[in-house]
Amino acid sequence: MPYSEQQVTSVTPWSDKTFSFTTTRPADFHFENGEFVTIGLRLDNKLVARAYSLASANDADHLEFLSIHVPDGPLTSHLVHIREGDSVWVNSKPTGSLTHRHVRPGRNLYMLATGTGLAPFMSLVLDPTLRATHENIILVHTVRTTPELAYRERLEAWAKAHPRLRYVPTVTREPFELTARGSDLFRSGALAAHLGLPAPDPEYDSAMLCGNPDMIREMTVHLKSTGWTLTNHQGIGNFTVEKAFVLHTT
Ligand SMILES: Cc1cc2nc3c(=O)[nH]c(=O)nc-3n(C[C@H](O)[C@H](O)[C@H](O)COP(=O)(O)OP(=O)(O)OC[C@H]3O[C@@H](n4cnc5c(N)ncnc54)[C@H](O)[C@@H]3O)c2cc1C
Repeated sequence: MPYSEQQVTSVTPWSDKTFSFTTTRPADFHFENGEFVTIGLRLDNKLVARAYSLASANDADHLEFLSIHVPDGPLTSHLVHIREGDSVWVNSKPTGSLTHRHVRPGRNLYMLATGTGLAPFMSLVLDPTLRATHENIILVHTVRTTPELAYRERLEAWAKAHPRLRYVPTVTREPFELTARGSDLFRSGALAAHLGLPAPDPEYDSAMLCGNPDMIREMTVHLKSTGWTLTNHQGIGNFTVEKAFVLHTT
């Protein structure tokens, strides 16, 4: 039986488009920080399941997920209504390309997220292996409106407690301290300047990307053309990517 029935233990609404929730964790469920797993709801006796990044750390006693609400989405139009005690079905086989095994050790590790693409980085920013193999971890989260900055207070507290973790929220459609897209800040060098760090250099630094497929595409083109190597079946490079969702064109 690849799916196990888990109970929702809390739900947090963030914006009209995003919410997060925690569930119980199956005793035999193991994963690497940064991986995703398929989760679903039983609707009319049929399992409707989608890929979700694990936002909780792999040593937590619960599971946590950050979700989009697509108004006519087959899963999320129902998932948005879940409450404590409801059942969610969790697949037993997590996987993904955003783990500590997917980047070489180095100086600064840049994590660039848009929207719900933040989720895998919630489990990764305090990952003990990444913290041991990189001097600084820089998490840039870009959203359209301020309420979409999910987990902002938690991240600010973690950054305060761990000076080698830098958290950079940016908001593109409302007044905010930084209103540029994280990927533009990275490419122009403004991000490193803002943080007082040397410009990103493929010889010393690494990057992980998760979010909008267009952001991933643009950043991949940019990084490859400036000397960075994508981790793939041919070997471990200095950047790795995961799309936070797939664009369906119907
Ligand atoms: C590897 C992977 C990891 C994923 N992790 C997450 C996650 O942690 N959280 C999450 O909310 N979703 C995540 N997704 C997307 C998720 O699998 C579903 O697509 C999403 O939950 C919507 O499901 P749905 O059935 O309601 O609509 P779907 O029919 O699946 O999607 C409808 C449309 O909504 C848009 N869309 C879907 N997901 C998103 C999103 N996250 N942000 C913006 N637009 C979106 C796309 O245009 C898509 O074509 C992930 C997808 C992949 C491939």
